[in-house]
Amino acid sequence: MRAPDLTADVATVLIPADQLQAKVAELGVTLSRDYAGRELTLVSVLKGALPFMADLMRAISIPVQIDLMEVSSYGGTATETSGLVRILKDLSSSIDGRDVVIVEDIIDTGLTLNYLLRYLRGKNPRTLRICALLDKPARRLVEIEIDYRGFTIPDQFVVGYGLDYGEFYRNLPFIGVLKPEVYGSE
Ligand code: 5GP
Repeated sequence: MRAPDLTADVATVLIPADQLQAKVAELGVTLSRDYAGRELTLVSVLKGALPFMADLMRAISIPVQIDLMEVSSYGGTATETSGLVRILKDLSSSIDGRDVVIVEDIIDTGLTLNYLLRYLRGKNPRTLRICALLDKPARRLVEIEIDYRGFTIPDQFVVGYGLDYGEFYRNLPFIGVLKPEVYGSE
């Protein structure tokens, strides 16, 4: 992979920073209302969901606890998931009896989340719901009910606001698509 250029490599901005912030604020209000008086735990999945989690938790006005997991998929390429998931970092606290919302960056094939849902259900939460910033339904392989959704996007490989290509571009404040020649140099 050639050296990334954060400005020159971006072909299009799909979702500008102000639209992301507005949507996150809206999701925060909805979650605060739906979970008022409950024991809410946000479980986010590193590394892609990190900016979304950080902004979302601050948009929530009720008490919350947070936990972080990190998963990686075996095999695959920089732009394709393989569906075989490995847990690199597990929960640090019990979610037994708690109302849990998984905070995800993007749902593509759905394989990662499908695995996580089964894993977390086994930890006996009172309720388990999904909050995903981006939904890419075109490539879905398993049916997943998304309870809280930010944006539905077309079948394009996106970067920014936590999402990477070759571990770079996560710090872009918007969601964008890179120029074809950048992806081509895998
Ligand atoms: P899934 O298992 O739903 O196919 O994919 C989930 C993971 O694949 C996401 O959490 C993300 O890490 C990665 N992914 C899927 N689509 C994209 C994309 O368009 N851009 C980036 N950067 N990562 C993606």
